[in-house]
Amino acid sequence: MLFRSDPLTGLFNRKYLEESIDKIVSQSKRSKIAYGILMVDIDYFKMINDTYGHDVGDEAIKVIAQTLVENTRESDIVVRFGGEEFIVLLYNCDSSYIKEIAEKIRINFASKKIKAGNGHFSKTISIGCSMFPEHGDTFWKCIKYADLALYEAKESGRNQVVIFHEELLHEENSLEANY
Ligand code: GH3
Ligand code: MG
Ligand code: MG
Repeated sequence: MLFRSDPLTGLFNRKYLEESIDKIVSQSKRSKIAYGILMVDIDYFKMINDTYGHDVGDEAIKVIAQTLVENTRESDIVVRFGGEEFIVLLYNCDSSYIKEIAEKIRINFASKKIKAGNGHFSKTISIGCSMFPEHGDTFWKCIKYADLALYEAKESGRNQVVIFHEELLHEENSLEANY
């Protein structure tokens, strides 16, 4: 179904996620299976477009999409949420697994070569993580919490994984102002 997939990467798009959340939540509640949520964003992506042009920017987006697919399972859901921002839903996930997968994705992407003309370059990503239902009673709340954790990862220097923790809620006002 084309309207639910992103043409550049072949991943699910935001509309798919919005339409599927209710079903994911009811299945998760019935089977008592937790989801890990990763919010992934390329660091200083704008610089790629500015330095090499939009096509190379698109290439970088394809490389991160491929990295996410390579490091996740068939039962996980990988979504292109916005421009260079992705959400991964990790099926049947606990707090040690989420950290392990997020770090694996971060390290793997940083090692990849992105083609630009005759040469290539590498980039890093930041990842914010949360767990449903451990961190919040609704899925969208947990997505927001993953986003707060992502903001923290960016603020504390980028190229890192941050798991949501309650203290981040107190910094929310500054998030509203800057992000
Ligand atoms: P940060 O480390 O804070 O994430 O910095 P950033 O430069 O990645 O920040 P920002 O999110 O502001 O930049 C995203 C840019 O991505 C803005 C937009 O021009 C570009 N963009 C969005 N969608 C696409 C796309 O499909 N292709 C390309 N080439 N660029 C895109
Ligand atoms: Mg970015
Ligand atoms: Mg962004």
